[in-house]
Amino acid sequence: MEKLAIFGGSKVFNKDCEMINKFGKEEKDALVRVVENGCLSAFRGGKEVRGFEKEFREYVGTNYAVAATSGTAALHTSLASLNLPIGSEVAVPALTFVSTASVVLQEKLKPIFIDIDENYCMDPEDLKRKITNKTKAVIPVHLYGHPAKMNEINAIAKENEMYVIEDACQSHGAVYMGKKTGNLGDIGCFSFFETKNMTCGEGGMITCNDEELAKQIWLTKEHGSPRNSNTWYSYIRLGYNYNMTEMQGAIGRTQLKKLDFNNDIRIHNGSLYRKYLLPLGLEIASDAKDVKSVYHNMPVLLPEEYKTKRDFFVQALRAEGVPVDIAYPQPLYKTKLFTELGYGYENLPKVEDVTARMFTLFTDSSINEEIIINSTTAIEKVLEYLKKS
Ligand SMILES: *Cc1c(COP(=O)(O)O)cnc(C)c1O
Repeated sequence: MEKLAIFGGSKVFNKDCEMINKFGKEEKDALVRVVENGCLSAFRGGKEVRGFEKEFREYVGTNYAVAATSGTAALHTSLASLNLPIGSEVAVPALTFVSTASVVLQEKLKPIFIDIDENYCMDPEDLKRKITNKTKAVIPVHLYGHPAKMNEINAIAKENEMYVIEDACQSHGAVYMGKKTGNLGDIGCFSFFETKNMTCGEGGMITCNDEELAKQIWLTKEHGSPRNSNTWYSYIRLGYNYNMTEMQGAIGRTQLKKLDFNNDIRIHNGSLYRKYLLPLGLEIASDAKDVKSVYHNMPVLLPEEYKTKRDFFVQALRAEGVPVDIAYPQPLYKTKLFTELGYGYENLPKVEDVTARMFTLFTDSSINEEIIINSTTAIEKVLEYLKKS
């Protein structure tokens, strides 16, 4: 892009600095162990996925955990397992990854979009306004690793007889009032996609405390076929094949052991971004009280006056070599998937404002203070340019 020719040249990545590889000997050994055991599927007697489920539920503090092929599969399984009446509405935040809402469409249910609060999570006040007597479930998202206001959301859900499915795909290890995310609603859903706080490439996990719900979740992710192998080829409900492989399970177990360590790196990087970027006049939300965010990434807002220049700003940062993303560039109801279904007129003020001004910075172990300082220099340079132009 010619207009950006003045940009470039910032030394964001120091080639001499050692990039920490998030995979190591543990992951390699785990894969070798699977191959040597000669069993790639849990269904055929492998021990890794079952072990991963046990360790994960112990970590989150729930009675049950069921592994799945992805976070999307986890969300789909959870919603399907509830057997909601046809025509039910499901409340979702307007700022999230597509899966939170697309699984609602998959189940032929109706998503209703809720505005966000000061930490970019579902706003309980707006939830109260938007629900109807058809709203049977709500899916709060712990976005960017910061827990949603679960006490308020749970209270509204209880009063209105709605299920609560937590989308914890960005919040492995995050804590809300002493409890881990995934243990705050009826069901919790996690993703182990490559960019998440822990990963096995692709993968997911569903957590819950209720025995009957756990049973339905198991059936839904496994062909509707009961757990007991005597009943092979007996199907008692509509199900899918969302089974995690042993390779994923083995890697997931090693990643779970490193989760707290890797979260500390993200939290530290988050505090460094705060330290260096706040003096530049950029907006960064403070964490809520009694919450431990795991800084899945770092959302930053441009000042009001640069609202129309966000896309240019981010392009310029990329030209400078700054690792930057826009998660997410528009409210979900404005994407084609939803406008074609008649959505797009919601005009929720908070999410409209935030998606126009936001950019997101990375916090994972490939980022360190040097990169953050160099990013800050580049951001300052581009802000200077915006000021003059
Ligand atoms: C990543 C993510 C998902 C989907 O997880 P996949 O494993 O990629 O299918 C769902 N919701 C949120 C908020 C996510 O960040």
